[in-house]
Amino acid sequence: MLTPTQQNALRDAVRALMPLAAEIFSEVRTASLDEEGVTRPAWSAEDQAAADILLRAGRDLGLATRADDIGNTYASLPGRAGPGTAVLTGSHLDSVARGGNFDGLAGAVAGVIALAALRRAGLQPGCELTAMGIRCEESVWFGIAYIGARLSVGAMDRPEFDGLRRLDSGRSLAAHMAEVGLSADDIWRRDGPEISAAGTKAFLELHIEQGPLLIERAVPLAVATAVRGNLRYGDAVCYGAYQHSAAAPRRLRQDAVLAVTELLQRLEALWHEIEDNDDPSAVFTVGKLFTDPDHHALTKVPGECRFSLNFGSTVQATLERMANAVATLTAEIAARRRVRFALGDAVGSPPTPLDPGIRANLSASAKRLSIPCVEFATVGHDASVFARAGIPAAVLLVRNGEGSHNPRESMDMEDFQLGVQVLAATMIDLANS
Ligand SMILES: [Zn+2]
Repeated sequence: MLTPTQQNALRDAVRALMPLAAEIFSEVRTASLDEEGVTRPAWSAEDQAAADILLRAGRDLGLATRADDIGNTYASLPGRAGPGTAVLTGSHLDSVARGGNFDGLAGAVAGVIALAALRRAGLQPGCELTAMGIRCEESVWFGIAYIGARLSVGAMDRPEFDGLRRLDSGRSLAAHMAEVGLSADDIWRRDGPEISAAGTKAFLELHIEQGPLLIERAVPLAVATAVRGNLRYGDAVCYGAYQHSAAAPRRLRQDAVLAVTELLQRLEALWHEIEDNDDPSAVFTVGKLFTDPDHHALTKVPGECRFSLNFGSTVQATLERMANAVATLTAEIAARRRVRFALGDAVGSPPTPLDPGIRANLSASAKRLSIPCVEFATVGHDASVFARAGIPAAVLLVRNGEGSHNPRESMDMEDFQLGVQVLAATMIDLANS
């Protein structure tokens, strides 16, 4: 644990580095400006520019920098024990199309600044500290999330990799990597993965908050309790029959819209019950709901209604309860209303618990620094890949207005500074323990 004098030295060093952090954010923003917000497709020239800027900043700050075969960047502060074990931090470099500049990038920059601040404060860690800039977290580019993180821990095989195509260009991942000077073959020539559980004490990710909770509570930071899992029916349909709106009596109707809306109302009621009584992390979203414009009409009973169901929770049992409710309710409503539901395949990911020890470390660091910090569940982040690879992982959320994945996200540099202080203090504590 840092002494109060060391803590003050670290805080001053973080503060002194904030103008540089702002400069890095602005330089990356300029390199990836779109008509609105920023666009940094994974393994694009814009993404590469972010990686280069981060590597240069790390080098200028006296850190040891390198990139791996995947294009992930590393900036390291050596520890007393020499190489072998490390405490990692970092987040992703890519953004969604016309997204915000801080989603991902904040965590990548925070790592480099945290390590530089520790170095400037003259604090040598017990083991190596490394800040990563990770490629391709966003699923909008190649259809799946966390590609850079999964490759770094060896959680993807070659056939899956070779099958990935960028959704907009239709070209392979290898082709996009080649454009920024990376050879996909090099990834598979390695003996083992770049990052192993054996060589990694912890992975900490700083990320802007994507919901409004910190704004609502007027608190700058939160430690995430777990990453929500999800259960999704992306293309569900209810089939009824198109009938004359004035002529068909109620007992003969096969109204697809009323059947779907009943299902949604009852699922919402169940969600409220679960959220109130059992699981406050539960969420339920109907992102798509529509009738066919080629067939629907003011004067027709709707014969078809398409919709999506998206459940999230940190508790697997909640997701199972929701899945069971969907099966029971659709069967019951279909029989009574003479319609047919075709839900399609459900896809999902299990909830990922985050490490209780590291969460406690983050909260304790915030407390010692007198920085208000709360706890709640978060959405998917690279940290969940490291957690699933057996590395104790945690996520530190920084207050951010207007959500994320849009150009209006608005992290305050004051809050960022507090986040970096907590990150740096926790990393050195973990390295020394
Ligand atoms: Zn993100």
